[in-house]
Amino acid sequence: MQAEIEKELALFAEFSGNVDKEVAAAEKRLAGLQDQRKARMSSKVPPEALSLYTRLLSAREGVAIAHLDGRTCQGCYMEIPTNMVVRVNRGVELVQCPSCDRILHNPR
Ligand SMILES: [Zn+2]
Repeated sequence: MQAEIEKELALFAEFSGNVDKEVAAAEKRLAGLQDQRKARMSSKVPPEALSLYTRLLSAREGVAIAHLDGRTCQGCYMEIPTNMVVRVNRGVELVQCPSCDRILHNPR
């Protein structure tokens, strides 16, 4: 009985050690990604675009940008006016969906 308990304890210690190792690795990766994100986001993005994006990220459950499919916003599936599609396609300004506020992007 004692031997079995010790065997189980050893196994548990091993599992527990593995979990610690995985958590440490994940935390290291997260820190690296956060550094990368900071560096990329602060360099060339205009501050007002960055703050809009950050605001939308938290307001729209982490999805601040929506693709356009024809005239349909893929974030909320509402159709947007043709003149807005034209503005999106021109690509010189940020155009937000009138319904869900997400920044529209035409993948084509
Ligand atoms: Zn939308």
